[in-house]
Amino acid sequence: MDFTGKKALITGSGGGIGKSIALLLADMGADIVVNDVSIENAQQTAKKIISKGRKALVSNANVVHDVQVKKMFESISQNFGRIDILVNNAGITKDSLLMDMKEEQWDQVMDVNLKGVFLCCQYAARMMSEQQYGKIINISSASGQMGNIGQVNYAASKGGVISITKTLAKELARYQINVNAVAPGFIRTPMTQTVPEKVEKYIIGQIPLKRMGEPEEIANAVAFLASDNSAYITGQVLSVNGGMYV
Ligand code: NAP
Repeated sequence: MDFTGKKALITGSGGGIGKSIALLLADMGADIVVNDVSIENAQQTAKKIISKGRKALVSNANVVHDVQVKKMFESISQNFGRIDILVNNAGITKDSLLMDMKEEQWDQVMDVNLKGVFLCCQYAARMMSEQQYGKIINISSASGQMGNIGQVNYAASKGGVISITKTLAKELARYQINVNAVAPGFIRTPMTQTVPEKVEKYIIGQIPLKRMGEPEEIANAVAFLASDNSAYITGQVLSVNGGMYV
């Protein structure tokens, strides 16, 4: 796969899965917009991209805020002139059982995981429709496909991401924009680092491949959906989960 000349925005690419996606697409020739609420983490990812001989544009926009997302896309327009690939990767968890969950836990997860995807898709689609070319990849989750105890907010948001994906695939096809989702299972990142060892062992026991996934394994799936090898694929969910949900 060759992304030479392509411009890709990966939200939440200061660490975890987003960083792996950013580095892989850069390895394959893309210039990258590194977005993360942590400017230090975003700058670290950008440094690695530049050392690969690619361009990197840093944005610390919080994807929840329309004004900040708008500014990020204005900067992309000024610096890169176009956007070919959007990966909506920024996401958070605020886990709790239903009966203990606070309203803020619900709202914060919906804001980042759903509203953030909506806003970035909206601004990206405006640029991509002009270009008559674009690839949008939304990061969902196995939780959104199968449900998960303690994650009523997160599972609902990630199920919503699948619905956004299907709707926009239909809505944006006329502009030659493909919209797909990747649904990771249990992946080794800072997000899953806080899972207690006992729980981790239990989850791994439920995975047919009997191990956690690595961020690079999600990046490989994203790269395929961002490439022209998947030109006739749109509105789909690619599960990368070791067989956890089939
Ligand atoms: P992570 O390590 O926590 O990385 C998420 C990144 O997004 C962090 O760098 C975070 O910045 C950034 N971020 C958070 N809120 C943001 C916002 N409002 N605006 C911009 N950036 C923001 O998580 P991950 O495991 O790599 O997860 C990446 C995606 O995969 C998420 O959508 C997650 O739901 C999904 N996923 C992960 C797993 C898994 O097992 N790890 C499984 C299924 C799906 P800070 O850290 O500085 O706050």
